[in-house]
Amino acid sequence: MDAQVKEFLDKVASRNPHEPEFLQAVQEVAETIIPFIEETPKYKKTRILERMVEPERVVMFRVPWLNDQGDVEVNRGFRVQMNSAIGPYKGGLRFHPSVNLSILKFLAFEQVFKNSLTGLPMGGGKGGSDFDPKGKSDSEIMKFCQSFMTELYRHVGADIDVPAGDIGVGGREVGFLFGQYKRIKGEFTGVLTGKGISWGGSAIRPEATGYGVVYFAEDMLATRGETLQGKTVLVSGSGNVAQYTVERCIQAGAKVVTLSDSEGFIYDPAGIDNAKLAYLMDLKNEQRGRIKEYADKYNCEFFAGERPWKIKGDIAFPNATQNELDEEDARTLVRNGCICVAEGANMPSTPDAIHVFTEAKILYAPGKASNAGGVAVSGLEMSQNSLRISWSRNEVNSRLRDIMKEIHSICVKYGTEKDGYINYEKGANIGGFVKVADAMLAQGVV
Ligand code: NDP
Repeated sequence: MDAQVKEFLDKVASRNPHEPEFLQAVQEVAETIIPFIEETPKYKKTRILERMVEPERVVMFRVPWLNDQGDVEVNRGFRVQMNSAIGPYKGGLRFHPSVNLSILKFLAFEQVFKNSLTGLPMGGGKGGSDFDPKGKSDSEIMKFCQSFMTELYRHVGADIDVPAGDIGVGGREVGFLFGQYKRIKGEFTGVLTGKGISWGGSAIRPEATGYGVVYFAEDMLATRGETLQGKTVLVSGSGNVAQYTVERCIQAGAKVVTLSDSEGFIYDPAGIDNAKLAYLMDLKNEQRGRIKEYADKYNCEFFAGERPWKIKGDIAFPNATQNELDEEDARTLVRNGCICVAEGANMPSTPDAIHVFTEAKILYAPGKASNAGGVAVSGLEMSQNSLRISWSRNEVNSRLRDIMKEIHSICVKYGTEKDGYINYEKGANIGGFVKVADAMLAQGVV
């Protein structure tokens, strides 16, 4: 590792002990950004990167609520307001028992670059709670969301900080959170995105991350004269991002053969068609069941406690969670002929896995570029709320398509290496950094 990078990372590590996910995200950025900063004195002198790794603000709070038995439960809530140089803080809320400050800081840090890449005026933030929605009744989910917002409302607002969904937070939770905000503040504003279509939501928002990551993969494949038509695709996860990745893959003529959840993965060699996808959406979004039930219903294999990367496929979409694809998985994918990995999840590939992809010179896109479609359409939802209008599905979808294309071009611009290989990670980091860094320079020492 470059001496300057090591010195920088040692300093960040000593200030943020016990935050491995945050340090991992910073390292991924520092390795490509520091050499760039070394050649750009205005960023070096003003210690822009040192400022960017320090959140502008972190809020941490108690979330007490009553379960269905009438017992008191206590969770911890967070909001990390990372950077507001180019717009109000923007980023999702995650409800999952693994949530802690390290995970939210990594997500908020990545969000700053991602939001910048969309070209829309959004700063970066992320929040959530260690609350586990699994097995909770609708009434418990509502009580938790109301208690969570009873504190969060002081820190957010349509021009301040605009949260959205993430793992464990979908349309139902956004509804309960929005209802409570409106009740406390007595105003109807675009304080959250991912709202229902009849109360300020945008068309295509549920689809946006999944469609966006597939659009991005199509642009990557086009650089090698390839398309999705006829390709075999591996998808992990079975939530929001995974579902709409499958939908768009089917539309593009590809065959998706895997899906997963935290208990294992299914392998359906015949491919997931529209009828199976409709079953999956009902299973996951309404029945709140497990992916194993898909294997039972369609009589295919379920691999308990495993991840899908050992299956042979041309393209992989890791769409579940961070660090779900390690070095060995990456080697297996490459050995099996995988030509493209586009991340729908945030930081699903470990640093060693990324090195395997880039050494093998296969197409690899980091989540901050390829999964930016979700926040991009959230940005469009904010615009529609401000204008008090709503655009059609076609209008939003075509804007999403254009934004993903533009992010791809930025990656090509900043990430193309001497031998012509496109290093999307480098391209996304530098492309995302420049806009935020220039705004910070213009605003003085803030
Ligand atoms: P959902 O809650 O809808 O689905 C999450 C999926 O990932 C579920 O299948 C879940 O399985 C699985 N999963 C979660 N945690 C783990 C774990 N620790 N190990 C294995 N599997 C796990 O979330 P989303 O689809 O919205 O989010 C998926 C990823 O995409 C996340 O990394 C998120 O940050 C990222 N993302 C989401 C965006 C959005 O718009 N929603 C935007 C950009 C990125 P189980 O049901 O068993 O928990």
